[in-house]
Amino acid sequence: MSTCKLCNINKAIENSHIIPEFMYKPVYDSKHRYMPFTSKDCKTVKIEQKGIREDLLCPECETKFSKLETEASKFIRDFHKAQPIATHNDLRMYKIAGIDNFKIFTLSVLWRLGISTHTSFIHYNLGPYEEKLRLILLNDIKLKRSEYPIFFTLLLRENKEICDDILVSFGKIGRIKTYSVQSFIASGLIFDIVMTTGQIPTDWNKLLDPCTDCFAIKIQDLGKLQRKEKLIDFSSRHNARAVEFYDL
Ligand SMILES: [Zn+2]
Repeated sequence: MSTCKLCNINKAIENSHIIPEFMYKPVYDSKHRYMPFTSKDCKTVKIEQKGIREDLLCPECETKFSKLETEASKFIRDFHKAQPIATHNDLRMYKIAGIDNFKIFTLSVLWRLGISTHTSFIHYNLGPYEEKLRLILLNDIKLKRSEYPIFFTLLLRENKEICDDILVSFGKIGRIKTYSVQSFIASGLIFDIVMTTGQIPTDWNKLLDPCTDCFAIKIQDLGKLQRKEKLIDFSSRHNARAVEFYDL
């Protein structure tokens, strides 16, 4: 039995989720199967019937994360039904309660991807941020939007349906300016997490913190993402137009 990776005290129970089960739900077929793939080879690996699990957390820490997951699942449902409060070209702004907790949830998934030893997630290497994120999650530290900012991209099909039936893990996709960016796709969203403890370009502030409970989403047509290079090109998804949006 291993020790809990979050509190480093209690014994870990078996089979903690890395990515929560609710994010797998739309991915399963009618027989409760899915095919995992990564951006590395972009081909199926093998059929799986359960989300990838590992011995990570003790019951107490598991409860802490499951609360975050329940809130996050509701947030996603609300978001999928919500209408934007503003739109401009391929940008939309939403106002949904719970965005700050959803950010903590996103970081909890990233942290789990980072510490996982499963072969599907070996390309996540958070370096010194692994311990920083552990302490934030363990101690419920409140974050400013400028700390570990997250850029969201909504993936839509041609008929405007949300593509919540794909789950992709990338690991580090590269850099924007001097920051490294860690990403994954789930629940119809590309999550791009910028690894910084708060030093961000001033022109990101409006984008990241437009108003209470507000957040910006870039819309992306899945059909135009045939090449993985396009999918992982952070800068082409978060370009200067994002800033222009809030200057209107
Ligand atoms: Zn624990």
